[in-house]
Amino acid sequence: MTANWVDTAPCAGLSDFVHDGRTGPRGNDVLFASMYRPELRVCGTCPFRKKCIELVKPQQSKFDGVCGGRLWSNGRLIATTPSACETELEEPELRAICGTDTGWLQHIRHSEIPCSACRSAKRVFERIRRTRENDAKRTRRLVAA
Ligand code: SF4
Ligand SMILES: [Zn+2]
Repeated sequence: MTANWVDTAPCAGLSDFVHDGRTGPRGNDVLFASMYRPELRVCGTCPFRKKCIELVKPQQSKFDGVCGGRLWSNGRLIATTPSACETELEEPELRAICGTDTGWLQHIRHSEIPCSACRSAKRVFERIRRTRENDAKRTRRLVAA
């Protein structure tokens, strides 16, 4: 589900905010910044820059393109729209996907009851870990015999 503000943001309906390799080279920061000047200008009037950064988490997600009034290259800040300010930059922690053992761990770290997908993933992960441990013990016994 998309947040409502996304549909009313100045970039709604516009493309080319995400760098996908087809839009040109990366590696030259000055050239990269000049390519995205029009998109950065759009962000200049946006009241949702903080929300945009909270949603995309550009540093943690290693984002390429324009988000939150900034241009990012693999999560590195390249250029900023003049009206942007530091307080917009805070990113909430990027959460692991549910249904993984890392997702289970993050539920625990956040004092949450793990969801059923994460509980199943954790059970499978533990079963695999025990099997590997038993195999390793068996191999050590065979080598020692
Ligand atoms: S900050 Fe820029 S990319 Fe983000 S919603 Fe606003 S206009 Fe779109
Ligand atoms: Zn979960």
